[in-house]
Amino acid sequence: MFVEKFRVESPNVKYGEEEIEAVYHYETTELVHESRDGAYHWIVRPKTVRYDFKTNTHVPKLGVMLVGWGGNNGSTLTAGVIANREGISWATKDKVQQANYFGSLTQASTIRVGSYNGEEIYAPFKSLLPMVNPDDVVFGGWDISNMNLADAMSRAKVLDIDLQKQLRPYMESLVPLPGIFDPDFVAANQADRANHVIKGTKKEQVQQIIKDIREFKEKSKVDKVVVLWTANTERYSNVIVDLNDTMENLMASLEKNEAEIAPSTLYGIACVLENVPYINGSPQNTFVPGLIEMAIQRNSLIGGDDFKSGQTKMKSVLVDFLVGAGIKPTSIVSYNHLGNNDGMNLSAPQTFRSKEISKSNVVDDMVSSNGILYEPGEHPDHVIVIKYVPYVGDSKRAMDEYTSEIFMGGKSTIVLHNTCEDSLLAAPIILDLVLLAELSTRIQLKAEGEGKFHSFHPVSTILSYLTKAPLVPPGTPVVNALSKQRAMLENILRACIGLAPENNMNLEYK
Ligand code: NAD
Repeated sequence: MFVEKFRVESPNVKYGEEEIEAVYHYETTELVHESRDGAYHWIVRPKTVRYDFKTNTHVPKLGVMLVGWGGNNGSTLTAGVIANREGISWATKDKVQQANYFGSLTQASTIRVGSYNGEEIYAPFKSLLPMVNPDDVVFGGWDISNMNLADAMSRAKVLDIDLQKQLRPYMESLVPLPGIFDPDFVAANQADRANHVIKGTKKEQVQQIIKDIREFKEKSKVDKVVVLWTANTERYSNVIVDLNDTMENLMASLEKNEAEIAPSTLYGIACVLENVPYINGSPQNTFVPGLIEMAIQRNSLIGGDDFKSGQTKMKSVLVDFLVGAGIKPTSIVSYNHLGNNDGMNLSAPQTFRSKEISKSNVVDDMVSSNGILYEPGEHPDHVIVIKYVPYVGDSKRAMDEYTSEIFMGGKSTIVLHNTCEDSLLAAPIILDLVLLAELSTRIQLKAEGEGKFHSFHPVSTILSYLTKAPLVPPGTPVVNALSKQRAMLENILRACIGLAPENNMNLEYK
């Protein structure tokens, strides 16, 4: 059964005018590796830590600035939100289609609230805590191409033509601001598009981005801004001692107009200086150590990297299932071909390499979780291939072959073939990233023994369900398995209203 909303009644939760306050008892373990009777033992001690959470219930008017606004993702997301806001429907060859937010975790998935008369009760994910309604988001941003969003939508060839016709009047007047362009960081084939760029030194470019954010905030009368990079994949920046390895060196390099600071890092510097959340939807190492240090020092939210939309999402489910079932994946081969501008940019070796790295690490934690199947350091063969095939446009083809060792030396091979518009997968993920980033800035927490409330760590791991290569604070484990990432996010939001984690035990029926 489905309910629209619910309210928690408990001595541990207080719904106030401004805040929801919750007390939550975090059940965890403490491990000790110690020598007893001449041998080493692992001792596991359960422990409970009290946490206090408070969530500001004032939902702000949110502005979202996309870097690469006129791209396939940027134009598709903007079009989708307008279509939802305006209640647009359109004729396809199958039926009359209504606008929806399918594919968005916050807007189109549910959570289990409990059982009632033997029936499971579910509520929308977004009913857990007060969140921004995507229909109310104001979009803006930058692009190195000066095309308006209506033309960009038709260039992208993603949405049905009848829908495009209806959206055109809403989108013609939306024109991106000029962007920071550096041909050294993208494929040479992108230069033709760059007719709308910010001139000047790198420092002046950062200053321009700051000015743009301030003006957008004022003009669109939004309370808060989140910036998200959905521009082209860049090559990796070289991480160099004295250049970008510390905050101080990065800022000194900015003064010196050093060539090795990528555009995506320049937008990042601007956002951190402005204390505006900044999320990287592409695979490159935008967050060089100096920028991470700066975000931590200034307590400004950063998140990334690379939207986890299709093939990798499937991989982070399938490998988790196989390894969790005691089956040993030994070879994983992933082919893609696509024909959009992203595919064209990825046809250069240096940008492809960024994608290859981001797609490769996704099975590491699952493999290392099972020392019965894998020797220390052993790893499945894992190969990624991406080819540019213009004819298929945004309709990406992904073909995967998983070979595993099963019982008694047997082999099992699974083959997947997925055809799907890439931007229709990415757009709802962008929405979730910005809505959850905004929500997380309204949550404060305090563990037992901590004097003061504080926000989550500025390197935002709660967004990791949505990213291929989750950025984590230095020294923190990376979790890639999709179900664990979802459970982490849902359970943290449940803790904010004093609910226990979803443990699926259903003991009352056992
Ligand atoms: P796209 O090429 O259609 O759009 C990118 C836009 O960014 C273009 O309009 C381009 O003009 C603009 N741009 C390039 N450099 C810029 C800069 N420095 N400043 C401002 N604008 C700039 O690509 P897309 O399909 O929208 O994908 C965008 C990014 O998202 C790519 O890096 C892609 O790898 C990543 N991504 C996409 C998916 C997906 O499913 N679609 C999944 C994961 C990651």
